[in-house]
Amino acid sequence: MPRELSLEVFPTLDWSDVESRLTPAVRSALERVLETQDGASLSSGECFALAQVSGDDLLGLLVAANMLRAELVGNLVTYVVNRNINFTNICFVGCKFCAFSRGPRDSDTYFLNLDQVAEKAVDAWQIGATEVCIQGGLPRELPPFHYRDILRAVKKAVPGMHIHAFSPMEIVYGVELTGMPLADYLSMLRDNGLDTLPGTAAEILDDEVRFVLSRNKLSTAQWTEVIRTAHRCGIRTTSTMMYGHVETPEHWVRQMLLLREIQNETGGFTEFVPLGFVHQNTLLFRQGLARSGPTLAEHLKVHALARVLLAGSINNIQVSWVKLNRKLSQLCLRAGANDYGGTLMEENISREAGATAGQYTSPEDFQSLILEIGRIPAERNTTYRRMSIKLPGIDFTSEQAFAAEFA
Ligand code: SF4
Repeated sequence: MPRELSLEVFPTLDWSDVESRLTPAVRSALERVLETQDGASLSSGECFALAQVSGDDLLGLLVAANMLRAELVGNLVTYVVNRNINFTNICFVGCKFCAFSRGPRDSDTYFLNLDQVAEKAVDAWQIGATEVCIQGGLPRELPPFHYRDILRAVKKAVPGMHIHAFSPMEIVYGVELTGMPLADYLSMLRDNGLDTLPGTAAEILDDEVRFVLSRNKLSTAQWTEVIRTAHRCGIRTTSTMMYGHVETPEHWVRQMLLLREIQNETGGFTEFVPLGFVHQNTLLFRQGLARSGPTLAEHLKVHALARVLLAGSINNIQVSWVKLNRKLSQLCLRAGANDYGGTLMEENISREAGATAGQYTSPEDFQSLILEIGRIPAERNTTYRRMSIKLPGIDFTSEQAFAAEFA
C-alpha cells in the first residue's frame, strides 16, 4: 500500500519516495534543476508553476530543495554572532506592517546618541560579536550626516567590528538630507566604515503591493537603484522578501527572478532572507488588508522555492528565526535553507509586531538546534568568507574545511 505522505513527514522523505507521485511537468522541472544545479534552467512558466504546487508536488519541491542545498552548500548550517542596534523608534514613514515605529510625540520613543550606539557595539565585541546590524526609524530633522557619524563613532570605539547598516530606505533618506548623488553618498559611507548593507525595505518589490503596505516607502525602482549602486561601490548587501500578507505566489517568483537578475549583473548579494509577515499588532492586519501571516505550507514553500529558483546565483538561503518558532526554523532549514542568521542580542522589530521567538539566540542554542537536525554548526562572518566549525568538543577554524564544503 502506498505510504501516506504529508508535510509533517517531509524531512524523512527521499526523492525515490516522491518522484513517482509528481505531476509530469513538476517532475521534469525539478529533475532538470537537480541535474543542472541552476535555477536559470527553468522557464519562467515553470517557476510560476512551482510557486503554485500543493500536495505531493509540494513535497517534491521541498525534497528537491533539500537535495539542492546539500549539493550547493553542503551540510554546514551557518550563523553570525552579531548585535542588532535599532538606534531610534521615531519614524515618519508609517508602514502599515510595522509595529515598531512611533510618532515623535508618543510616550515611549527613544533615540540613542552616538556614544550610546558605540557603547552597545563595544559590549557586543566584548562578548564575541563580529558584526553590528544598525537600522532605525526615520525621524524628521535628523542631522544630515547622522548615518556617517554613527559609522565613525562605532569604528572609533571598535575598529574591528563589521558594520552592517542602514536599509535602502535610510540610504534614500540620507541622500535627501545631504543632497549628495547616491553613488557619492554610498561611497562616503563606505569610506567611513560601512561594510555591508541590509537588503531590507524590499518587502514585495511590486509598486501596487507596496502602495498597500506603505504609501511613503521607497519604490521598487529606488530599491533596486540603491542595491545596484551599492554593489557597484563595492558594498555587498543581503536580499529579502516579506511574504504572507497581501501578495500572491506570482510576486514571490517575480521578486526572486529580479534578485537573480541583479545578482547576475553584480554578484553583490551575500544571501536571500525570506521574512514571514508577523501580523498580530500591525495596522495592516487590523484594518483587514492582509491575511494573518503565512501558513506552514507557505513558510516551507517560500524557502524551498528560493533554493530552487536562486540555485547557482544566490546560494545562501537564511531562515529568520525571529519570525519563526524553533521548530519552524528547523523545518525551513530542511526545506532548502542553510543559514540561521544572527544571534541579534536585542531584537525589537518582530517582537513589537507580535513574534514570540525572543530577542536573542545564543551561539550554544544555535549549535544544539543545528545538531538536532543532523547538520554541522559553523559560525561565519557577515560575508560567509570566514567560518569556524562548532561541534561538541571541537572548535576549530578551518579555511580548508570551508573550502572543501563550498567547493
Ligand atoms: S518599517 Fe522602518 S520605515 Fe517603515 S515605519 Fe517601521 S521603522 Fe519606519
